[in-house]
Amino acid sequence: MAEKMLAAVLYDFNRLELAEVARPRAEQVGEVVVRIKACGFCATDYKAIAGIRRNVSFPFIPGHEPSGIVAEVGPGVTAFKAGDAVIVQPSGFCGFCPACRVGNTHYCEHAFTTGGDGPTDVWPGAFAEYMRTRTSCLFHKPKGISFDAAAITEPLSGAWKGVIQYSQMQVADDVVVIGVGSIGLLCMMVAKAAGAGRLIAIDVSDYALRNALDLGATHVINPAKEDAKQRVYQIMPNGPDLVVEAAGPIAAVKLMVDLRRRGTRWNVFGITTHETFEIDGGLTHFLEGRMDASFGTTPLAMSMAIRLMERGLVDTETIISHRFPLARIHEAMAVIASPDRNKVIVQP
Ligand SMILES: [Zn+2]
Ligand SMILES: [Zn+2]
Repeated sequence: MAEKMLAAVLYDFNRLELAEVARPRAEQVGEVVVRIKACGFCATDYKAIAGIRRNVSFPFIPGHEPSGIVAEVGPGVTAFKAGDAVIVQPSGFCGFCPACRVGNTHYCEHAFTTGGDGPTDVWPGAFAEYMRTRTSCLFHKPKGISFDAAAITEPLSGAWKGVIQYSQMQVADDVVVIGVGSIGLLCMMVAKAAGAGRLIAIDVSDYALRNALDLGATHVINPAKEDAKQRVYQIMPNGPDLVVEAAGPIAAVKLMVDLRRRGTRWNVFGITTHETFEIDGGLTHFLEGRMDASFGTTPLAMSMAIRLMERGLVDTETIISHRFPLARIHEAMAVIASPDRNKVIVQP
């Protein structure tokens, strides 16, 4: 194996460069090196590169939605061997702290991330030919799933965790998803697979709404063109059972709160910026408003996402709009910044 590899290295905000860097090695117990085949380009990567999120230390290799082939295993690794096709969970965990012991590995006191956001311990990510991680972050990739589709496991797992595990969507529930970029579409596809009754997608982009209709929305609403609440209550006279905000802007959170009727469950899923919204305490009490929020992923959610794909319940391939080799990462970045795109895949 070569000693050097190609990587997209962020040296400063807005300074992403293709560089030859040292290939990582699996030297510690439990470590593995994966030859990356595909990696999803997430909004979090874009925000780091463009300087929209500032908690980045340089140099940094972004990319946290990888699939690939095990290239090298470190001491003590028995569950995986060189040549195994794998999917990588980007959030590492210790397995022994109180949070890990009850299954909340995304709260781990010793968490690390490969190329992602959240933990303070940040390892180089997957916009590179090779990436080092721990074997506890690996999942075997089923044969029937392409590397590109497998690279969308982590966002799909987040959608499953939010919609099913936390908000407990039930068969025939009337569901509204606000914001149908790639993560909102995945929420919608999970809801459809779980037997949603009426399924409304709300977005200000007509491109996104066309995708939503293709992928199973029963109705779409563009709030820039019509009164979203009025339309939702025309389509769902009894109001939604579940509303998922997968958009990001605070206006989307406010719309979600505004769409409630008695007993509606709502999930603060997309917003990551520190903006506030008001809720009426008494009204929330009498409505029995049930709020959830969801971030990150867990081995349980990753496993369920892999099952959803393997059993043909969610086809993540359908949300891929662009593919770029690593050498064309800057073109990928430009596409991410444009409105007419869905999931972008980088192939190192
Ligand atoms: Zn992401
Ligand atoms: Zn832990």
